Amino acid sequence: MLSQFRMLPDRRLLLERCLLKISQQFHHSQTLELLREIESTPNSRRSEILTSQFKRLSLLLAHAELRVPYYREMFRSLRIKSCDIRNLQDFAGLPVLTKDIVRERQRDLIQEDIPFDSLIPGHTSGSTGTPLSFYHDRLSNNSASAGNFRNFRQSGWRVGEVIATFIGVYSIARRWKYVMTQALRSNYQFNVFDAGPEQMEKWVKKWQSLNPRIAYGFPSMISKFAEHIIETGKYVTPLRGVFTTGEKLYQYQRNIISCAFNCRVYDCYGSSEVCNIAAECPHGRLHVNADFVVLETENGSHVGAAPSQLIMTSLWNFAMPFIRYRNEDCGTLIDGICSCDNNFPLMRLDITRQTDYFILPRGRVIHGMFFAISLLGSKGIDNFQFHQTATDSIILWIVPKPGLESEKERAIRQALEEIRTLVPSDVKVHVQEVKEIPFDPAGKYHYIRSDLIRNGATVRRLPESIDH
Ligand SMILES: [Zn+2]
Repeated sequence: MLSQFRMLPDRRLLLERCLLKISQQFHHSQTLELLREIESTPNSRRSEILTSQFKRLSLLLAHAELRVPYYREMFRSLRIKSCDIRNLQDFAGLPVLTKDIVRERQRDLIQEDIPFDSLIPGHTSGSTGTPLSFYHDRLSNNSASAGNFRNFRQSGWRVGEVIATFIGVYSIARRWKYVMTQALRSNYQFNVFDAGPEQMEKWVKKWQSLNPRIAYGFPSMISKFAEHIIETGKYVTPLRGVFTTGEKLYQYQRNIISCAFNCRVYDCYGSSEVCNIAAECPHGRLHVNADFVVLETENGSHVGAAPSQLIMTSLWNFAMPFIRYRNEDCGTLIDGICSCDNNFPLMRLDITRQTDYFILPRGRVIHGMFFAISLLGSKGIDNFQFHQTATDSIILWIVPKPGLESEKERAIRQALEEIRTLVPSDVKVHVQEVKEIPFDPAGKYHYIRSDLIRNGATVRRLPESIDH
């Protein structure tokens, strides 16, 4: 009887792994093959890691020079060829790609001989910066998933084990399709766009039937759920690890998450346009994924120097290469090798995106990303900001794009309809047009702003720090 009982989790894992493989074949996904290919790379010698990184970078540069109009023009204007870039010092001499350039020259940054309908569109998912649209190819998308899986493997997670996801990519219109897909992928999406005490009670019940082994997503929402679990005295099965991404992870959030799920928290740094930049190891240090990116700082700063703007090159997206791209985050590169088995270089992240969530009447919480994606990429709108001034009042500031009046009206109407699917009618949403939206005191612009929250903190009682 006992041995039968012990077999059950493995049988379930086998079934889940099987379903995942079917789903991968159905979607022509290469994620699992890529995972096998990259899984042991961090354990190679540092010199080998850097040699392969430069080889891949050289391939990307040659490709960009040959097939991507913006970079062809760049090499011509510099009167050099891509093969003249013989080391990272040479590479550091190439111009920086800014967000403004990506916006203005978007079509010239796309590989010219790739079928446009094969590309996967994306938008910046952080809360700062004016909206930015870009494209990935399928291989780049699959590599991002494989990179995530490799990060998860550090906690002892096994492919096929259920992942509880708290990230804002939920599409209400295609909900049935999403539910089916996530069942096949052993990946359950908790709806962070709708997360009050009542919803979290349902989450706890769902958690018991899912038996997830890891959680992944926005620290703001995972820590709110952790807070709910602790405050209500609910028991949830411990996790192997929690992986946070997409926002700044505060120490109090790390503590409360670690306490509720009895596991280590691994912070992962990535963005929609450049995926899988760095991930924390079990020793708590942030390793740059050197097979995914070449990471530099604007002033070449290493440890001890002041943090500076990060400059990154994505080594996987050949369809729309981001070469020496300044994403407006700041950090520092750190010399030396970590005492863990991972020989990837080290870094420290100093400023990252922060997304507020909105608190509605009766304690309901809606992640700010829900509002942001209702307008991201809309024609007729140059810039926007959702600003919560009270639990029942939200102002939508709009900077219109000249000459696109009807597109602007349509975008606003659709956004308001989408918002009303979750936001009750006693919360007023006022639309106001303005010439510009001011930056915050740190010089950053936010899509989402709440007067009810400061530094993402609404937690009153903090647990003691836990060492693992
Ligand atoms: Zn390490």
